[in-house]
Order: sequence, then C-alpha cells, then structure tokens
Amino acid sequence: MTVEAEQRLLAEQVGLLHHQAPSGYIGSFVSAAVLVWVLWDEPQERTNLLIWMFMVCATIGLRWFEFEAYRADSRRLQRAAWWGWWFTLGAAISGVTWGYLGWAFFQPTLLFLLPMTLGLAGQVGLSVTSIGIFLPAHVAFNVLTLTPFVLRNYLEEGRLFFGQSIALLVFMIACLFFARRQQTMIREAIRLRLDNQDLFDQVTHENERVVEARRQAETANEAKTRFLAAASHDLRQPLQAMTLFVDAIDDGIRRRKEADAVLVGKLRSSCDSLEMLLDSLLDLSHADAGALKPEVRDFALQPIFDRLRREFTDQAAEKGLLLRVVPSQAWVRSDPALLERMLRNLTANALRYTEQGAVMVCCRKRGGNVHIEVRDSGIGIPDHARREIFHEFYQLDNPERDRRKGLGLGLAIVDALARQLGHRLDLRSTPGRGSVFAVELPSGPPGPAPNVQSPLASVGLEGAWIVVIDDNAPIRDALAKVLESWGCYVAGGENADEAMAVLTASGRPTPVAILADWRLREGRVGSEEALRLREFLGQVVPVLLITGDTDPEATRNAGFPVIHKPIQAFRLRARLDALLTNQDAKNSDP
Ligand code: ADP
Repeated sequence: MTVEAEQRLLAEQVGLLHHQAPSGYIGSFVSAAVLVWVLWDEPQERTNLLIWMFMVCATIGLRWFEFEAYRADSRRLQRAAWWGWWFTLGAAISGVTWGYLGWAFFQPTLLFLLPMTLGLAGQVGLSVTSIGIFLPAHVAFNVLTLTPFVLRNYLEEGRLFFGQSIALLVFMIACLFFARRQQTMIREAIRLRLDNQDLFDQVTHENERVVEARRQAETANEAKTRFLAAASHDLRQPLQAMTLFVDAIDDGIRRRKEADAVLVGKLRSSCDSLEMLLDSLLDLSHADAGALKPEVRDFALQPIFDRLRREFTDQAAEKGLLLRVVPSQAWVRSDPALLERMLRNLTANALRYTEQGAVMVCCRKRGGNVHIEVRDSGIGIPDHARREIFHEFYQLDNPERDRRKGLGLGLAIVDALARQLGHRLDLRSTPGRGSVFAVELPSGPPGPAPNVQSPLASVGLEGAWIVVIDDNAPIRDALAKVLESWGCYVAGGENADEAMAVLTASGRPTPVAILADWRLREGRVGSEEALRLREFLGQVVPVLLITGDTDPEATRNAGFPVIHKPIQAFRLRARLDALLTNQDAKNSDP
C-alpha cells in the first residue's frame, strides 16, 4: 500500500475511533457509578470510593477535551497518527483508573468479586468493539485495567482466586485477539470503501471529460455547419450573378451584338468578389490547418508600415479619414508576410468601420515585446461581441449578408494567424468612440538580417521560353495568352511528353520556368512531370505548381512553390518574378 493510501486509511480509523468515543465515555461513567453504588455498603471505603469516582470523572473530562480538540483540528486527517496516540494516552489513563479499582479495593469475598469481575471484564469486553478499531488504544486499556486485578487474585490464597486469575488472563488475551481481528476487518472494509470512492471519483471524472469532449465536438460541429452554410451562401451569390451575366452576354452575342462592356464589367466584379472570398477561405483553411509553416526571422517593421501607408492612404482619403502610420525603428521576430497580412486586415477593418476621424498604425516597445496597434475612431465594438467577431462569418450589423460590407473572415484570419505565430491579440473598444486592436510579438535584435520581402522587381520575360503543363486545354490556352502578352514563348502540353515535343520542334530552347498543374490526367502529378522535363532539359529549371486543391495537405510535400487557382494575371506575374529572382521560398500563395 502506498504511504498516501496508508495515511488515508489511518485517518479513517482514527475518525471512527473518535466517532464512537462519547458513547464509550458515557458507558464508562454509568458502569463506574453502578460499581460505586454496589460497593457503597462498606462504610470504611466510602471516601475512597468517592475519590475514585472523582478520578473516573476527571479522566472522562480529559478524554472529552481530547475529543473536542480533535474535532476542532482542521488538519486532523493529516495528523491522524498524532491524534491516534493522544487517544491511546487517554485510554491508558482510563485503564490505570480502572486497574486501580481492582487493586486498591480488592476484597476476598464473593460479594465483592462478582460485581468487580463483571465491572472490569465488562469494560474491557466493551472496549473490543468501541476502541478495538485502533489496536494500541485497546491494548493499553485492556492490559492496564485487568492486570492489577489478575495479579491481586493470583496473590490471594485459595483455588477460587487462582482460577479467577487464570480465567481473567484468558479473557484478557481473547479480547486482545478479537480486537486485532476486528481492527484487520475494519481496515479492510475501510480500504474497500476508499477504493470504491476512488473508482467512483475516477468514473465521475472520466464521465465529466467525456461530456465535455462531446460538448466541444458538438460546438465544433455546429460551428462547422454554420461555416459551411455561410460559405455556400456567400459562394452561391456571385456565382449566380456570374451565370446571369454570362447568359446576358451570350444572348447579346447570339443576337450579333457586341458584348456589353457594362455587363463584362459586372462579370469582372463578380469574379473579383468570388475570388476574394475563395482567397480568404483558403487563407483561413491554411492558417487553421497549420499548413502555413511560419518562417520566423528578425526584421524591421518600417517596410511593412510603408506598404500599409501606400496601400491605404487613397482609401482613407476617399472616406475623408486621416491615416497615420507612425514611423518605427522597431525590429521584431515573426513571419513578415503573415504579420503583414494580419496588419492589413486590421487596417482595412479600421477604415471600413470608421466614418470620421482617424486611423492610426503605431508600435510601442514594452519589455522584450513590441505592441503593434491599429487604432480607429470608428463605431467601436460592444462588449458582448468581443469574442464572436473573431469567428468565421460573424458580422455585426450585416444580417442581410451584403458582401459590400465585408466577408466576415478578416478577423478570423487574423486570429488564426496570431495563434500560428504565437502572438497575443488584444482588443480594447468603446462603442461610439473607437477600437484598438493590438498584436503583441517579440522584438528582434536590430541588425542586417534580411528585410521583409520588398515589392518584387519585375523580371524581364521578353523572349523567354516558359513551359505550361495542364490537361485542361482552355486553361492552358488562357495561360499561354497571358504569358505571350508579356513577350514569352510558350511550350504547352497536356503532360511532359507533349511539352518536350514542342520544345524539340522549336530547336530545344531552355525555358526559364515550368508552370505545371498539380493534378493531371491518368493519375499524373505536376511535380513529377516537371522533374521529367528537367531531366530531359538537363537543367534545374524553376517550377511553379498550379492547383485548385484547397486542402493544404494535398500539396504539402510537393517540393515546389504552389499557386492556387483562380489565378489573376498580376499574381502570376508576381510569382514568376519571385521564382526567377529566387525569392519564392514559400510553398503557398503570397
Ligand atoms: P468583416 O469582413 O465583416 O469586416 P471581420 O472578420 O474582419 O469581417 O470583422 C468581423 C466583424 O467585427 C465586422 O463585421 C465588424 O462588425 C466588427 N469589426 C471588425 N473590426 C472592427 C473595427 N475596427 N471597428 C468596429 N467593428 C469592427
């Protein structure tokens, strides 16, 4: 048994011992009073009997005091052994008192012998049940009560007394034996009860955990259902619009009219909004799935601040707001691209939800950390929504889900990125006065460490060959058109073999890049086709994979940078530039 289990068992034993103590004390008092009454006939002993009775009462008083002190002790469970020994001391004093009676008042007459034997043996017999739970207490009481009387009988002349002393001795030993058995049985019962209690506690605890896990799963499920409902609603809206516009354009063409420029403009805006939504969903799923693999390094904040200022100054001016980006010397430790995305979302929100006044982006150093704050003097956020606004698709004041009022994903992305980067997000806001979103991140040592990716210098693609592998002919053609508009030559094909054929037919030029769709026909994948092409060319030509897969796992181990569909021309250009200037280390979209 462990020390802890033994301690609990002892505490229970001593608790039980004290629990039964008061009835034992009352019984002891009554027995003493009866004995005094029986022996009262001897006039010369009366004073001594009164003194003895007083001793009995004093002993009971002392033991009662010990009982109260035990009950008052808040640490009695931890100090069980200590209280056990105090109780044993009380039992010993009581034993001495009773033993004294048997010795000092002894008279060799039957009239005396009978009540005395009954009184003393009765006390010891009762103590088997009352204090036998704690063997030391019983031993002390038993031996000290009966030994003097046994001795006294033994020392007396005559067979009766000798027989009486032997009988009492046997009784004494039998009581000790029974008390020991009793203690063992009670300890076993207590141990079983404690084991059961432990088991019960454990089962209750497990049960609570299962209930909590189920609650969390249900909450997650509900959140997912809400997410899917909102996402499908938001995706269907622009798609529906696009279908109608395409029908209209188609109709116009069929009636030999030129496609209406306004309709095309609207189609473009639907495409943009759909793309924005898909991009945001993709960002969120990447951040949530932990697929972003932050590249943490030390860098200066100022270049990010500069870009924010350039990007948002016009927008702020259009709304008549003042945008202040306070210059900063701070260096921080983070992933520059992800941090910039967080700050961009926060700044866009600040401008969107502010009608007058100013938006300020600034940073403060505190201890070893840097606090970047995006402050606005806008509508503010009520207390009850402070947590929910970080949930996907949660928007205040947009029950009709008007996409012009935002997607409801910006803060969810900020939150997911902050968790990925281990940065603390803080929000202070007063409705009607404005909000402060703060990102707390570690400061980095200033130094010549590589700075955040600067806006990419465009690489000249004039006359360069680019391979395009895609099993979808319209997409391949569209890509080729875009690339050709930049002055490139394109070797396209459904797989590496077709592209090789085109290159061979064109005199085997060395392409500057290979663009390969990730999933191709016949179970082929872009990365393998690109590797085959590289082998054919005998050169390590840069590769950019194109995928429509939203599952980050799918391309996690592709080994090449990935760009997600739908691709806009300017994004493709930026990725190609990055690829060709060796800056595109990431396995995901910029
Ligand atoms: P949205 O696309 O609607 O801006 P977000 O996830 O970025 O989605 O924000 C969720 C909601 O939080 C918003 O709809 C808006 O009600 C509230 N919110 C976000 N930023 C601010 C801010 N700076 N001031 C007031 N409300 C804000």
